[in-house]
Amino acid sequence: MIGASHHCQSLHYLAFLVAGLLLSLPTGTITAKAEDSSSIISRFQEYLRINTAQPNPSYYEAADFISSQAKSLSLDLQILEFVKRKPLLLLKWAGKNPALSSILLNSHTDVVPAEHHKWNHPPFEAHLDPSTGHIYARGSQDMKCVGIQYLEAIRKLQASGFRPLRTVYLTFVPDEEIGGHDGVEKLADSDTFRNMNVGIVLDEGLASPTENYRVFYGERSPWWLVIKATGAPGHGAKLYDNTAMENLLKSIESIRRFRASQFDLIKSGHFAEGEVTSVNMVFLKAGTPSPTGFVMNLQPSEASAGFDIRVPPTADEAALEQRILEEWAPASRNMTFELGQFKQRATMHDKYGKPLITSSDSSNPWWRLLEKAVNDANGKLAKPEIFPAATDSRYFRELGLPAIGFSPMANTPVLLHDHNEFLNKDEYLRGISIYESIIKAYASYDEPTKDESSRDEL
Ligand SMILES: [Zn+2]
Repeated sequence: MIGASHHCQSLHYLAFLVAGLLLSLPTGTITAKAEDSSSIISRFQEYLRINTAQPNPSYYEAADFISSQAKSLSLDLQILEFVKRKPLLLLKWAGKNPALSSILLNSHTDVVPAEHHKWNHPPFEAHLDPSTGHIYARGSQDMKCVGIQYLEAIRKLQASGFRPLRTVYLTFVPDEEIGGHDGVEKLADSDTFRNMNVGIVLDEGLASPTENYRVFYGERSPWWLVIKATGAPGHGAKLYDNTAMENLLKSIESIRRFRASQFDLIKSGHFAEGEVTSVNMVFLKAGTPSPTGFVMNLQPSEASAGFDIRVPPTADEAALEQRILEEWAPASRNMTFELGQFKQRATMHDKYGKPLITSSDSSNPWWRLLEKAVNDANGKLAKPEIFPAATDSRYFRELGLPAIGFSPMANTPVLLHDHNEFLNKDEYLRGISIYESIIKAYASYDEPTKDESSRDEL
């Protein structure tokens, strides 16, 4: 374009070009970066806008979104349907050494319902408040953030040219919020899972109001207890012993004393929430219905109450069962009890008979690596905890696999299942760097783990 005959002119033009370049370079870089993080945030918002609230989650819409992300990252994708209409997505980033055990990054796609009118911003709009940077949405903490942070971290690792030594799997699973029976429970029991040769699972944790990330090595087991008292019915005016109401109230008093003793342990500051047995009454059922309410001059022959009990993996199960039998629902007071979720209650130990906890010290290489990777990314871990409620991690721990609960959200109030659940965009972006560091450390770990060497011995 620049002819030799217009030498001076072309030189002048060149100088102009260089000056233009010098001027535009710095701003150009900043714009590229800003665009980069804004597209990262947009993808997060896109996922949050898919309404996957129980009881009617839009699972296929979420599956489409995740499939498109998998495609953009050239990850192998399998859509498993252990139960019809409940797709479970399995993504694979193949490692260079398939003989080494793999890394599993798990997240659930469903969220709990939201009471829309109690939110300041609609829970499925993923509104970004420009003044604070908070992104409001159901699932912003629990746990769509984590699922897509895994993907964004992989995107960055791929861009840096990193190739994993160990295979990295990602699972996007349905139904965690309703017990995981049609999701991870089925997966953990499948040949597909056995063939994945998983060595370590990362799953959800909780936000942390301090600068330290919370991390979980076990969880409490839910015991859903229903106690029922029976007694002779009688006139509302008569005082006599052994009425159903009286029998039930004696139990409730006893349960309340136990609850207070456990709560005192937390209040003393020496115990974390996950380390004590919690008991909360969730229903009371008694009385004889009448067209206007209840019959007032009749003492009913039956009364029952339900309790949500959460038992730490280190608790003495036998002692608690004894307490239920002798103090909370004794046959001597005409009482019976039922423990719902019996299967969950029965599995406080893994298939080798060990308590369902993942060791959180240097004996566990995955623990060491996690701690170092978080530090390397300028993050700090809080003291490891027992998760106060149940998550899908238990199904992996039941198989004897190490599973660590970790959602990198520091300086964030715990709002899972609450109104106005949010995550700050900067905290979200920081979490991606944290996962980048963890996934790199895990996928590069070249020493056979204890499990791998013992498998070889077998
Ligand atoms: Zn969750």
